Amino acid sequence: MGEQQLDVEGAWLTDAMDTEQARDLPLDAHLHTDLSPDSEVPIDLYAAQAVERGIAELAITDHVDFEPGAPAFDFVPFEVRERTVREAAERWAPHGVAIRFGAEITYDSRFEEAIRDHLRRHAYDYVIGSVHVYAGSPYSHQRVGSWVAGRSLAEVMAPYFDEVERATRCGLFDTLGHLDFVKRYLVPHVTAEDLAAAPELYERLLVALVETGTALEVNTSGLRQAAGETYPSGAVVARFKVLGGNRISAGSDAHQKDAFASGLEAGYGVAAAAGFRELAFRRGGERLAVSLPDRFRIRSGPNEAASPSL
Ligand SMILES: [Zn+2]
Ligand SMILES: [Zn+2]
Repeated sequence: MGEQQLDVEGAWLTDAMDTEQARDLPLDAHLHTDLSPDSEVPIDLYAAQAVERGIAELAITDHVDFEPGAPAFDFVPFEVRERTVREAAERWAPHGVAIRFGAEITYDSRFEEAIRDHLRRHAYDYVIGSVHVYAGSPYSHQRVGSWVAGRSLAEVMAPYFDEVERATRCGLFDTLGHLDFVKRYLVPHVTAEDLAAAPELYERLLVALVETGTALEVNTSGLRQAAGETYPSGAVVARFKVLGGNRISAGSDAHQKDAFASGLEAGYGVAAAAGFRELAFRRGGERLAVSLPDRFRIRSGPNEAASPSL
């Protein structure tokens, strides 16, 4: 949530500039429709593009917030969201596109019990947990400059990364969304290069993901925002694999029609380069895996000998 409202600097504008049109991919696992407060895209506009571009499966992951007053707090009732997505799934299945009913839950440790209760009562096919940047956050546009001043990088990152670690440790989510999304708000005070030079800051987050079996998302919205790279970077994804991570996801996090599957080809490439051969997913019920297309399988990860595909 808040990804558009808080972004007064226009990092959002590059959505429409993306020219790399992903095709023939099995899954975009992170999409927002007009069931989210910061998107106006009817679900059918994604589905139609999916048909056209041979993208077989979509997870609709509209925002659900738990802080009273937050944009996605009671924005659209669960029943309406579920019905809208399920009916779209029925409409589009005959065209060869599978649509799953998911959610992107804003994790906030103050509301962890409410989140747990919600997920106990409501069945989603797939659930992403993400930490967002609210208006009162130290990373908000108005405050980020003074927050960064005089602090070490570890201190700067701590509030966001602490929440990400809690979001992972709570064990409620299939996937941890955009692990270091905060770097969008930190530019230019802290750059992607600064973070790349401090991989130790990510270690506890990756260990938490491995220990809880939570999937790490390669979120490609960073490619069209100020950060200029996925959330998180390929190096972080590779380290996750080295630490024993075996569940990876990829999503465009589109909020606009033209951002559908944007950067997803690159996102799959990040996963493949780290040594992953499949994506972690759920369609209700048990967790499952979706194989990467063969063209991604010829790459070898840092821990694996080069091998031909299949
Ligand atoms: Zn998000
Ligand atoms: Zn999102």
